[in-house]
Amino acid sequence: MSRHIGVYPGTFDPFTRGHLDIIERGLILFDELIVAVADSPGKAPLFDIAERVAMIDEQTRRHKKVRVEPFSSLLIDYVKKKRARTILRGLRVVSDFEYEFQMALINRKLDPEIETVFMMTAESYAPVSSRFIKEIARLNGDVAAFVTPGVAKRLRTVYNGRKTTR
Ligand code: ADP
Repeated sequence: MSRHIGVYPGTFDPFTRGHLDIIERGLILFDELIVAVADSPGKAPLFDIAERVAMIDEQTRRHKKVRVEPFSSLLIDYVKKKRARTILRGLRVVSDFEYEFQMALINRKLDPEIETVFMMTAESYAPVSSRFIKEIARLNGDVAAFVTPGVAKRLRTVYNGRKTTR
């Protein structure tokens, strides 16, 4: 029987407890789950792609089925190259739905054989977004409830380093 490989794509800038929750829920569906870190130059990420890969690697190392990789091509092409058949995405709030629905339908048009599946996050992570976390960290707030200690440390390093120049 062929191995069922899933791809969980995202920008992960930074990686949050909500993302981790989706990965851990997704593990029941796949023999292997590739966390695909998008270059996303259009989003001007705070962390470069190597840092984002490293922070996810640190947080998921204990899960033997998880692999973390950068990618910069069209998602569907990447998924096919990995011989995966399923894209995993997370849903938090109703406002995620429209964008996710549109993206899933576009990806289906590009390749009808690849399915997108959605997992609902734990209620406690529903308000967690990378954008808000960066804003809280920039203003020196406590992000411990939203990110793992390794990510919190990286955020402190980035923003403390910048304080002198801003
Ligand atoms: P993208 O730029 O592709 O939207 P993100 O890193 O923002 O990348 O999100 C990646 C995926 O994780 C998306 O499906 C998003 O809806 C989901 N996600 C983000 N934050 C959470 C969270 N707190 N709980 C569940 N899913 C989340």
